[in-house]
Amino acid sequence: MSYHSLSDASAALRDGSVTSRELTDAALDRASKTEAELHAYLTLDHDGARQSADAADAAFAAGRDSGPFQGIPVAIKDNLVTRGIETTAASQILAGYIPPYDGTAVARLKAQGAVITGKTNLDEFAMGSSTENSAFGPTRNPWNTNRVPGGSSGGSAVAVAAGSALVGLGSDTGGSIRQPAALCGVVGMKPTYGLVSRYGLIAFASSLDQIGPITRTVEDSVAALETLAGHDPLDATSYRGDVPDFRVGFDDGVAGLTIGVVRQLSGEGFEAGVEAAFRRTVDLLSEAGARVVEVSLPSLDVSLSAYYLIAPAECSANLARFDGVRYGLRHDGPTVEEMMTATRADGFGPEVIRRILLGTYALSAGYYDAFYGQAQKVRTKVIQDFEAAYEQADVLVSPTAPTTAFEVGSKTQEPLSMYLSDICTIPSNLAGDPAISVPVGLDDAGLPIGFQVMAPALGEAVMFRVARAVERAVAFEQRPPMLEVWS
Ligand code: GLN
Repeated sequence: MSYHSLSDASAALRDGSVTSRELTDAALDRASKTEAELHAYLTLDHDGARQSADAADAAFAAGRDSGPFQGIPVAIKDNLVTRGIETTAASQILAGYIPPYDGTAVARLKAQGAVITGKTNLDEFAMGSSTENSAFGPTRNPWNTNRVPGGSSGGSAVAVAAGSALVGLGSDTGGSIRQPAALCGVVGMKPTYGLVSRYGLIAFASSLDQIGPITRTVEDSVAALETLAGHDPLDATSYRGDVPDFRVGFDDGVAGLTIGVVRQLSGEGFEAGVEAAFRRTVDLLSEAGARVVEVSLPSLDVSLSAYYLIAPAECSANLARFDGVRYGLRHDGPTVEEMMTATRADGFGPEVIRRILLGTYALSAGYYDAFYGQAQKVRTKVIQDFEAAYEQADVLVSPTAPTTAFEVGSKTQEPLSMYLSDICTIPSNLAGDPAISVPVGLDDAGLPIGFQVMAPALGEAVMFRVARAVERAVAFEQRPPMLEVWS
């Protein structure tokens, strides 16, 4: 029962074959059997979840229907503020912070009657690719608990993969939804920049951050985005136009579409199993009637460097607010400056400090042009490369990540090799475009492989259409083998 898709669960709730209370208890029960090993959650809200479930069941009984999330257990990444539930972004500096309001994405789910199971683990302030940078201990991959789940939204991906929630919310600045989804065998999507309000998302790099869903199916990803998307007066950067219809052509398949394989995103550095599953999937799309072409994104080799200047630069400004005065942790000192220094030195973990230092340096007088200014030029070039590629193809495809889930601890001492995990996902953030990861198989070690579909801004419909075709052609149905033991 804890492994329904959102659409199946919604249907079952409506035909009376299941109650929200049963779904919620099943998810919480799964959590109680797996959390000691997986640590997907930082906070589980048993009481709140059961209350919401009972309220949803009462609504169904009274004939009220507020939308597809009514009665559905959803896990929220802990960098999204939740009223009355501790929100830490996995940082000591926020430990004990209980927000007085809900972020808009959370509020939109609640408005439909969603059941919030709890807050999921992440790399501190969403900085990382393995969920090992959490101040509260790592999350582990349900496919193999010696492996990382990816990151930074590793907790939400694991909750969905292990059945302790039906849907998860994540945030994606450089791949943090798609890469953990790929490593955990579930679907993760990053919408077009601005399509989902970031009000109440603890900011990492504001020109890159987006909130998006982690789900078990592409259909569920569409339903989630329909719920989340739309202008929000509380987020001036949110998109003001009409939200496009994400379902145009959804089940039409790929006949007549041109699919661009990104030349730079294969070969050296890509694991053989990943590459093979990717090629197999492209062949299936071709057999299903798509025209497959090769496209080039020449600036790709410098996009990672540009990201690791732009994101730290923005984070150095965004994290200035954690000063010991307004939120969470505070170490007193004889002067304000010493209080702030003591608080920040102790409250931030090593990766966050590394990024603040890098970003502050990149923005400092005398270096700005050489670093930040240059990175912005590369960003413009990435955007132009994508524009040129979309003249040749409707969507672009690549593996979601160069490897499958790596061993816990294997990259923590080498930031650069960790950063390389995002080589395939970062370009879409730099361009502000949507992209989705769909599971397409397992490698020889039995670890999941993700296939990424990228589309131009506001091109979610064609992205979902291709992702749906991939899902149908591949029919990936495996689940973490340990689920049998944990059920
Ligand atoms: N792994 C990337 C980073 O560390 C992306 C993180 C994210 O998308 N939040 O910056």
